[in-house]
Amino acid sequence: MNIDDIKNISIIGAGNMGHQISLHCAIKGFNVKCSDISQDMLDKANAFVDKYLPGRVAKGKMTEAEAKAIRARISFTNSLEECVKEADYVIEAAVEVLHIKRKLFADLDKFSPKHAILATNSSFLVSSKIADVTSRPDKVCNLHFFNPALVMKLVEVVQGPHVSDETAQISMDLCKKLDKVPVHVKKEVPGFLLNRIFKVISQEALWMLEMDVASVEDIDKACVFGAGHPMGPFTLMDLTGIDLTYTMGMENFRASGDRADLPSPSVVKHFNNGEFGQKSGKGWYDYSKK
Ligand code: NAD
Repeated sequence: MNIDDIKNISIIGAGNMGHQISLHCAIKGFNVKCSDISQDMLDKANAFVDKYLPGRVAKGKMTEAEAKAIRARISFTNSLEECVKEADYVIEAAVEVLHIKRKLFADLDKFSPKHAILATNSSFLVSSKIADVTSRPDKVCNLHFFNPALVMKLVEVVQGPHVSDETAQISMDLCKKLDKVPVHVKKEVPGFLLNRIFKVISQEALWMLEMDVASVEDIDKACVFGAGHPMGPFTLMDLTGIDLTYTMGMENFRASGDRADLPSPSVVKHFNNGEFGQKSGKGWYDYSKK
């Protein structure tokens, strides 16, 4: 198989990441089916597409005919089987819970064509923790998009020891066809590539906040205006979800046994209060009035 054989892409999960990855793939010319167990999330994803495309036409970024063709290439369903039965490439973007992903991949293996590559968009679960539930571990890899997936160029292709060179190559080529910038992560390491770098920055930012060295706002300003980052570490955590920061810290701690990997006290406090960032209306910043 090679990249020219990939025509139909299926996305599992219509949440934060899934709906944007779906739309992006349709914009880049692929036939896309997206599934979710929540009808509410499917309805929201559908509504997002219906609003986004006319917005792009109004801004002169695409013609009405292009928008119509993109709309016709993307569909949503609550049936996993229906979603993947003709898939050439599946991108799973459901919740970050290992046993749910393992169950999903067993079903994906059952319902999708034998040639299909099954990738997970997981932020930190390596595909070797999932691949063994399928009959095609050589075709199970990590394909890690960044938030917001319609905008962010980077995608990490993580090649665990079970992943064939063909799967890694097709995944890299797919990203290029999607007009993304793929990087090949040759080993499974916790956090992959960029999140390992971000971890160091956010740990330092959290330490300065908790030691009352500087405020959330000033630490963010330093990163934006001094280092040229598009947003500071606290704004970024609010965007990606403080629940994800917490879960990643706990997972890293479980893997390393190193207490330094545990989520910091202020992250735990926000997590316990249900303050996850933009999605809950409050995190490091208050979004309730926006
Ligand atoms: P989200 O909570 O916004 O969406 C997850 C979706 O999965 C929900 O709509 C939920 O209904 C659906 N779901 C749950 N169980 C399902 C199942 N069995 N079958 C189908 N759908 C199911 O989460 P998200 O932020 O979009 O994250 C999705 C994945 O992408 C996670 O693995 C996460 O680690 C990863 N990721 C997230 C970010 C980020 O910034 N949020 C960035 C990169 C990767």
